[in-house]
This record gives sequence, C-alpha cells and structure tokens, in this order.
Amino acid sequence: MALLYTTPSLHERIAVPVAMPRLPLSLPILQGADAPPRGVEAGEAPLGTPPAVPASTAYRLFESPVEDQEWVGYDPCRPLHYVVRPDNAPAGSEGLVQEAVAEVSAATGLRFVDDGATSEAPAEERDLYQPERYGKTWVPVLITWTSPEEIPALAGDIAGLGGSDYAHAPGQPLVFAGGQVQLDAEDAADTLRFPDGRTYVKATIMHELAHVVGLDHVDDPDELMNAENLGRTTFGQGDRAGLALLGTGSCAPGL
Ligand SMILES: [Zn+2]
Repeated sequence: MALLYTTPSLHERIAVPVAMPRLPLSLPILQGADAPPRGVEAGEAPLGTPPAVPASTAYRLFESPVEDQEWVGYDPCRPLHYVVRPDNAPAGSEGLVQEAVAEVSAATGLRFVDDGATSEAPAEERDLYQPERYGKTWVPVLITWTSPEEIPALAGDIAGLGGSDYAHAPGQPLVFAGGQVQLDAEDAADTLRFPDGRTYVKATIMHELAHVVGLDHVDDPDELMNAENLGRTTFGQGDRAGLALLGTGSCAPGL
C-alpha cells in the first residue's frame, strides 16, 4: 500500500505586501490508506523533456520532507491530469487556465491533460483517491474559482493559493499528488476589468501552478515566484530554471 503524506502545501499568492507564514509540515498522517492500483498510466520514461534554459539560481524548490531526497516533483513518466470547477468563473476568464497550464507544461516538460469540468469543491485536506468521482487513479489537479467564504485563507489581498500533497510507495521516491489551485474569483473579476487584466490573471494562475509542481517563493521581483506581484506577468530566468529542474523528477511506477 502507498503511504500518503499531506502537507499544508497551499501557498499564498500575494497581491500587496502581506506575509503569510508557512505552516509546519506534518507527516505522515495516513499509513496504508486507500490508494489506486499501482502504476496507472505509468510509463518507463518521461513523457516530455524540459527545455534547455540558461543557468540561474534565482529559484527555490519546496523543501523535501524526507532526508534522503533533495526535492520533490511530479512523476514525469505519467500524464498530469487536471480538472476545473467552472462555478464562479469570472467573465473574460475563458481559456486562461488552459493558457497558464500550457506555459507550465512547456517550462517543465510535464504532460498535462485537461479532464474537463468537475463539481469537486476545494478543500484544505483533500482525499487523494476518489474512485467514485475520478476512477481508480490518483485525483487530478483541482483548479477552482472560489472565495474567502469557501476558503478563508483567500481573505484580504490573496489572489490565489497553490500546492500539492505528497504520496509515495515504500522504496520509491516521494512524488507530488493531488495538487490544487484556488483562485479568488472576485479578485480576478476586478483585475479582468483592466485592459491587461487577462495577462495578470493568467500570471496568477501560472504562479499558483508553479507552486503545484514544486516551486517556492523567492525574494526577487524579477521572478514570477516573488511572493508579491510587482508587475511581472511571465516566468523569469530563475523561475524557468527551477521549472526545468522540476520536470526531471524520478519515475514512480510503484505508486
Ligand atoms: Zn505564491
């Protein structure tokens, strides 16, 4: 059976300077938990290749929760499915999730697959195996347009949250599973009223998706992973170096 770890790995997207502390990691909370059959869609080699990018150290990966593994990424040898809950999607946001996913896919080499719409609600602690809803496989990345009423961590100037949980099989590397992006629908609607609104909302989604695949914040305004957005709308050189590295994770066929 797989061991499941969960971490409060949803990270804040900050529109104005507001610091939000990272919560301490807790692991494992579940042992021998319900998990899908092993190796669903697992290939023997990565499905894509990250691009060659100029060297940069202006990125930070999430700290690995285990000592013998330096960092954690998604299994590049199987597709990374995602679903979108369309409720509350603001007018003018059509296609932005797909455009942001395409950027992250290109920057990592990870192969994303759009599984369409879902009715699943965002949650701080999400079941990583929901066979009735998604079949006998790990849950897809869940992207939702939501609100501070539904997700209190979005209160104030937080435009979005993004992160993933961990899963691993004994003897195999820890990999990410069950990512989520939670977007403040009202904040996005406000932004979309501006001429460049779509570009900024897309940048927010890119930032959150970069958290999903493993990038932490950096204190560098030239990077999209700066904790507060100072006007940047594309990945910077450090972001790109980190994302390319995150596309070179280990395959985890035993999971
Ligand atoms: Zn962030």
